[in-house]
Amino acid sequence: LSGIRGDDVTMEYSNMKEITEIAEGIGLKGEDLIPYGKWKGKISMQAVKRIMEKPTGKLILVSAITPTPAGEGKTTTSIGLSQGLRHIGVNAVAALREPSLGPVFGIKGGATGGGKSMVHPADEINLHFTGDLHAISAAHNLISASLDNRLHFYPDDAPAVAHVYWRRVMDMNDRALRDIVVGLGSTNAPPREDGFDITAASEIMAILCLADSYSDLKERIGNILLGLKADKTPFYVRDLGVHSAAAALLKDAFLPNLVQTTEGGPVLIHGGPFANIAQGANSVLATNLALRLGEVAVTEAGFGFDLGAEKFFDIVSPYGGFRPDMVVLVATVRALKMHGGVNKKELDKENPEAVKQGGENLAKHVENIRKFSVSPLVAINVFPGDSDGELREVEKICTALDVEYAVSRHYAQGGAGAAELANKAMNLLNQQEDAGESRGKPLYDWNSSVQEKVETVARQIYGAQAVDFTSAAKKDLKTIESRGYDNLPVCIAKTQASLSDNPKLLGRPKDFLVTVRRILINSGAGFLVPLTGDIMRMPGLPRNPSALEIDIDDDGNIHGLS
Ligand code: ADP
Ligand code: MG
Repeated sequence: LSGIRGDDVTMEYSNMKEITEIAEGIGLKGEDLIPYGKWKGKISMQAVKRIMEKPTGKLILVSAITPTPAGEGKTTTSIGLSQGLRHIGVNAVAALREPSLGPVFGIKGGATGGGKSMVHPADEINLHFTGDLHAISAAHNLISASLDNRLHFYPDDAPAVAHVYWRRVMDMNDRALRDIVVGLGSTNAPPREDGFDITAASEIMAILCLADSYSDLKERIGNILLGLKADKTPFYVRDLGVHSAAAALLKDAFLPNLVQTTEGGPVLIHGGPFANIAQGANSVLATNLALRLGEVAVTEAGFGFDLGAEKFFDIVSPYGGFRPDMVVLVATVRALKMHGGVNKKELDKENPEAVKQGGENLAKHVENIRKFSVSPLVAINVFPGDSDGELREVEKICTALDVEYAVSRHYAQGGAGAAELANKAMNLLNQQEDAGESRGKPLYDWNSSVQEKVETVARQIYGAQAVDFTSAAKKDLKTIESRGYDNLPVCIAKTQASLSDNPKLLGRPKDFLVTVRRILINSGAGFLVPLTGDIMRMPGLPRNPSALEIDIDDDGNIHGLS
């Protein structure tokens, strides 16, 4: 018997349903589930193919206002909403991302929700789960090793040392490995600059989450641009010839994982790309399954609506073949206080006036949601310290914006605490039954120019006045056009701390310029990455990392994960 953390709430394995029972609850039998022990399982490819023939339910996308560094509770609210829906008798299935060890040991902690709205077994999901992230690291590093092997044996048929784009990855916050030199000692390989990114930032992670079959997975991996040869022609993974082997390494990682909520509801957890440099959503496979295994699928897009959710509408949904039917926007008193100008250290102090001031940020996100012709529903995620006065200010902001809202207490009460949120969500879904063609459709046309696509997102979603492309970015634009990649969607890399590209501008910044420094080609994943500001691909550990709190006792119980 092993305890599972959860601040003041402890769920023990003895209270959990066996995973086969969770599977049966959503119509999966026998070989459909590949059990990983008693509490976790993967959905088999045969089952995936069969489920994909079924009709789809409704899709609720959970997003948030511009968050504080601690997170505003999108994962917790996604789990809570799925519990709330089941509480009112709706068959809801949640689809979420897998935790990365970087945040688990770093500053943010785990990604399994909190309080009475968690996914279990939380300790295992946070630490190694079913090994998907390790498999992704291995597939990525197979390509890295093969590339250096090519440089060793056939340097003329390899990218020029100065033009290798591909780096290495590992699933750990290790800033010392950001920039390194490889090929030293007696390797006979040319010494060259290299570096490590965190696994969640790997293009393999992005691909795993966008591919719809093993053959699609193979093809997308083959299409990854590794660098340029001496004559400036592109060199792809398929030129190395290891795309099929990399896909083979991902055999099990490509299958969605099934686990359960604190109340025994079904949750698919699969893939975890970052929402700043990548698309920030779980796999399209998991979302597609959730849409067909339940009446309502609940999924989360990373960071604020301007990052993960915009990418969900413009990149993930078109690739996945679905469209969100509504957006639940998570707002918290503490984030609104931050936007209202309160110092990070004072966020715990009651301050309704600051909440009111911060309302501008919420207003912009609500305005943005409406641009996709879906109904917004604000989930006020109540934290233990929130005062009635502060909560009333958030309600007033919502009323002034003429947006539906619910004060949600899933963290403290589980599904019962999210019943109002669930009821309001169902009302909105039913009301918009025939709202027509435009619902949930992307903001821009993939066929418009790259510049136009970036400008559309920057002006309409971030609220920028204009976009400045540096001369290096303009050069990238030319390359992109000449190689025929200009019809790919744009996955803009931007800070999550602000609607703008400057992390210091809180609230609702106005009259700012967005600067695009470079534009990367992720031809495997199938998007371009315009870089604004300094974007971290390998985070470091903070001065006092969460790792200092984590422990295991003699019975094998894990403690201190939060
Ligand atoms: P996000 O997905 O938006 O990054 P999470 O759901 O992971 O946010 O929540 C961030 C942290 O805040 C987690 O440690 C979670 O347990 C905690 N948390 C979320 N909602 C609440 C709440 N209502 N009360 C207290 N803690 C909460
Ligand atoms: Mg989350």
